[in-house]
Amino acid sequence: VKELGKPERAVVTTCAYCGVGCTFRAEMKGEQLVRMVPYKDGKANRGHSCVKGRFAWGYANHNDRITSPMIRDSIAEPWREVSWDEAIAFASGRLSKIKAEYGPRALGGITSSRCTNEETFLVQKMIRSVFGANNVDTCARVCHSPTGYGLKTTFGTSAGTQDFDSVEHTDVALVIGANPTDGHPVFASRLKKRLRQGAKLIVIDPRRIDLVRSPHVEASFHLPLQPGTNVAVLTAIAHVIVTEGLADEAFIRERCDVEAYEDWARFVSDARHSPETLEPVTRVPAAELRGAARLFATGGNGAIYYGLGVTEHSQGSSTVMAIANLAMATGNIGRKGVGVNPLRGQNNVQGACDMGSFPHELPGYRHLSDSATREMFEADWGVALDPEPGLRIPNMLDAAVDGSFRAIYIQGEDILQSDPNTQHVAAGLSAMDCVIVHDLFLNETANYAHVFLPGSTFLEKNGTFTNAERRIQPVRKVMEPANGYEDWQVTQLLANAMGAGWEYDHPSEILDEIARLTASFAGVNWQMLQERGSVQWPVNEKHPDGSPVMHLEGFVRGKGLFVVTDYVPTDEKTGPRFPLLLTTGRILSQYNVGAQTRRTANTVWHQEDVLEVHPVDAENRGLKDGDWARLASRTGETTLRVTVTDRVAPGVVYTTFHHPATQANVVTTDYSDWATNCPEYKVTAVQITPSNGP
Ligand code: SF4
Repeated sequence: VKELGKPERAVVTTCAYCGVGCTFRAEMKGEQLVRMVPYKDGKANRGHSCVKGRFAWGYANHNDRITSPMIRDSIAEPWREVSWDEAIAFASGRLSKIKAEYGPRALGGITSSRCTNEETFLVQKMIRSVFGANNVDTCARVCHSPTGYGLKTTFGTSAGTQDFDSVEHTDVALVIGANPTDGHPVFASRLKKRLRQGAKLIVIDPRRIDLVRSPHVEASFHLPLQPGTNVAVLTAIAHVIVTEGLADEAFIRERCDVEAYEDWARFVSDARHSPETLEPVTRVPAAELRGAARLFATGGNGAIYYGLGVTEHSQGSSTVMAIANLAMATGNIGRKGVGVNPLRGQNNVQGACDMGSFPHELPGYRHLSDSATREMFEADWGVALDPEPGLRIPNMLDAAVDGSFRAIYIQGEDILQSDPNTQHVAAGLSAMDCVIVHDLFLNETANYAHVFLPGSTFLEKNGTFTNAERRIQPVRKVMEPANGYEDWQVTQLLANAMGAGWEYDHPSEILDEIARLTASFAGVNWQMLQERGSVQWPVNEKHPDGSPVMHLEGFVRGKGLFVVTDYVPTDEKTGPRFPLLLTTGRILSQYNVGAQTRRTANTVWHQEDVLEVHPVDAENRGLKDGDWARLASRTGETTLRVTVTDRVAPGVVYTTFHHPATQANVVTTDYSDWATNCPEYKVTAVQITPSNGP
């Protein structure tokens, strides 16, 4: 700021990193961004931010930014910089040829949870109405798709139940499979403030995360479960609540499907689900588990916060439903201070899901098989839609290897680095005739692309993001796009080159279309967002000011549905060759695959991914702090530097996945959630051995 001088103007916009959705004043001098200042009137952050958001403009001007479109006939050739006209003609020509030769189901695409609602809506519209099939998916496939499935099944809608302010009324917070201090720092501060005021904390996590013991905060219970046993732990907690008469019978009789509750209660009461019986499975001392269950059921307002340690398992959807069961059984739904709160990873993963980024659902989570909904979209869009659900990301890759899926458009997503079993992703991409990558940087996936369309940053566009509390917030253009176009304009160019005839002039027109076609957005428009700053969906005639807390009087589905969730061990087994379990997570200063944060000043905090190993496991292998280790699984191997620590239990190792040099996902497996195919990132059987380095 000293060098650049006093700012001349400021634009209020929304952070493009995590699902907290902090707002900032981007302070400008001429066309130069001087600094990002947390916005004191921001409803999600109230003047706070974390280090990622404060420096979020660093990557926008990085030398690695690609600003010219590029094409090549095959991935063996070097890239050729071309004009936008030539790139769009090349891409649309290839897509149209494949469509003519193999049919529309040979084409598909992936929307980005980093992009705006309007951009995401347009990509899925292009895939369904221009490509002509429903092969659309999003990164939620690999993170929160079980949240969508589990909460829709039990409550009737695929979203968290509370606003962040709700935590101020919480008496007992149960944090499971989430590390808010690193993943959702501004929310973590609000949670810690409440804990310092006397609220109690239960942490269920294989690793001793910071929240377990930090200045002035100490969890009443930390249940360090064996990775992969979430459902067993939650069933044991439910067992204690039901068998000790701690369930909220009045809430259940009034608000829930009583027959389903009775089935569930019978199931969890069985002696085989007691904490003592399950202790050898969960490795959580039964007494601790009983204590945590009693505290949650009797401690006042109980709020559950969870993250990818819940969803990225073969039983991810079952775990989400087990959490919903627990909230209903204790009457912790439908008022401030309680609820089920998925901490969404990406800034707009909630929005990408709301906007119809799934192969079986149109915007607003309406199933394609609902002919009335389909007809409404067909009438509005003027095309017939394929009534069959399309392919999920892993199925697109499988079909590519089989030869029936030939082309993909990927917006703002580096699937080679972020998706499991890198070798399988590479095989699928290299089998395709046309891979179009629309991104800021030449990422790892672009190594397999034929067309590279340069993307725009959140500072270069208008639109909206929806955060983890369903808050729709404006994203305002701070500077002109370095490539000449906002992302929604690029999608429109491509769709029109294939015959769409779209005429959007501003994202507000796309938002109007979203509101017209999506009941939960019915009362949203650009002007009201400029006036109010933000609003939480559903916004409609009944809730013109939005809905901070959901399921107030009744559940969206009517009666809350208890679902029996039986613990089924993962097929990923340890054994003599691979005796340890690897689990993964994030660090405060880095964001996901690091494409942005590795290109900002704060990377000095974290230059490499490291492998946390318990002292006993390290000693058994002759490894010391700072040594290199070879990490091998049944899928692949990589090399990491070791940190010896008792944050992890014996038998468990842990790493992050921010750096392409490490490529942690070369070791993760193809196992996935039974309902949604969300990969089982959090449980991989591995072995570690000393190494001389990469
Ligand atoms: Fe806020 Fe998340 Fe951005 Fe940090 S990364 S400033 S917590 S939205």
